[in-house]
Amino acid sequence: MAEFDVDSLFRSLDTDRANVVWKWKLLEELKQAGLRSGDPRVDQALTWTLANTGTPFEPGQPEWLDLDHFRTVVREPVIRRALQDQLAVPASEFAELSRGVERIYADLLDDRSGEVAQYIPTLRDADPDRFGIAICTADGQVFQVGDAEAGFSVQSTSKPFTYAMALEQSGPEEVHRWVGQEQSGGTFNDPRLSLDAAGKPQNPMINAGAIATLALVEPGQDVSERFAKVERIWTRMMGEAPGFDHRTFLAERDTGHGNRGLASLMAAQEMLNVDPADRDAPQKAAEIYFAVCSLEVDARRLAAAGATLAGGGVAPYSGERVFSPETAGRVLSVMGHSGMYNDSGAFADQVGLPSKSGVSGNVMMVVPQKRMAVVVFSPRLDEVGNSVRGVETCRRLVNDFGLHPYKRLGADRETARLALGGVAPARNAGPAGHHNAAASTAPSVVKAEGLQL
Ligand code: GLN
Repeated sequence: MAEFDVDSLFRSLDTDRANVVWKWKLLEELKQAGLRSGDPRVDQALTWTLANTGTPFEPGQPEWLDLDHFRTVVREPVIRRALQDQLAVPASEFAELSRGVERIYADLLDDRSGEVAQYIPTLRDADPDRFGIAICTADGQVFQVGDAEAGFSVQSTSKPFTYAMALEQSGPEEVHRWVGQEQSGGTFNDPRLSLDAAGKPQNPMINAGAIATLALVEPGQDVSERFAKVERIWTRMMGEAPGFDHRTFLAERDTGHGNRGLASLMAAQEMLNVDPADRDAPQKAAEIYFAVCSLEVDARRLAAAGATLAGGGVAPYSGERVFSPETAGRVLSVMGHSGMYNDSGAFADQVGLPSKSGVSGNVMMVVPQKRMAVVVFSPRLDEVGNSVRGVETCRRLVNDFGLHPYKRLGADRETARLALGGVAPARNAGPAGHHNAAASTAPSVVKAEGLQL
């Protein structure tokens, strides 16, 4: 790749030919690429430069950077890569995706079908009309619309991350001694179908499996230490700490007889990694699960956690490795077959991308081929417990952008065939003509023929 040419980039942004780049102009350019102005990396680079390199600043006048200041700012790798259009999703595509998300949001705003979860007051009292969507790429490109910063308890969407933490701590072999990796065929809290004959939960996406995997995170420590570890990992993924929804926690604990029962059943068959001499161990195992379900996030932050999986375990803002690529891959696999409750099979058919839902009305979908995650928050649920607008958003996004991994198979060949057939009669065109015509007409043919699902 060519050396990064700061000078010509500077000139291209210096549209007034005044030997300066306006700060607003730079921010606009970064926004096009998906880097929002609140992005800590952007803020830090600009604040530092403007404060430390003595940019003359007149109150009421726009701030600007001369070439030297500009050089300092583009030392921040994400800014440099954004200006070279080298982020996970290219700027033009990111803009298109953002417009697509906005369109879907507008279309679904009036959809009031479904019902909020009823089993605890905090969920029962949730504002059912809330609706927010956020996307975040592995490079921290963000787009959000609606209530993307409204808080909600993460609920079952904690499960893939708990599984990731267990895998990091104990390795896949040990983890899968305690939890399976097959579809359960039952509801997430079904006491009969959650465990196999040996007392082993079917997979980490159902309650029993989440309780079992949580028991593998810092197993020697007391509950508060273990919870602190979970919180720290969430903070590292999102670049911001999660909150904690106390009322949800208290209500989950008050009503969580089934979950305590599952923990006891597993302990009875020595399928829970706890001290067998501690008679309260199953209760504690359930309790930390309630606490983790009660972590409070919003669509924007949860999308950053999803982007950590999309980025093979690397957190989007810090660039810090939180999970190994193997762990991220395993987590996405189980989300792919068991992330959407009892609708997982049909969802895999229609959407085909690893996703996880929680009863607060959130859906997190990872788009591996774009290294991006999408989170929808909308509390009204369908009969299996998935957010109605969440599922519909995923479905539409996948359709509108051809993101289903299996439903475009052969599309490229089809495109090539149509493109070749679409040019001037074969007799008159030489091989070179064919080739050029194919290259130039391919995209419009895709659109015209509508290779959507
Ligand atoms: N916390 C609830 C439970 O354990 C619901 C979790 C979920 O989102 N399904 O039953």
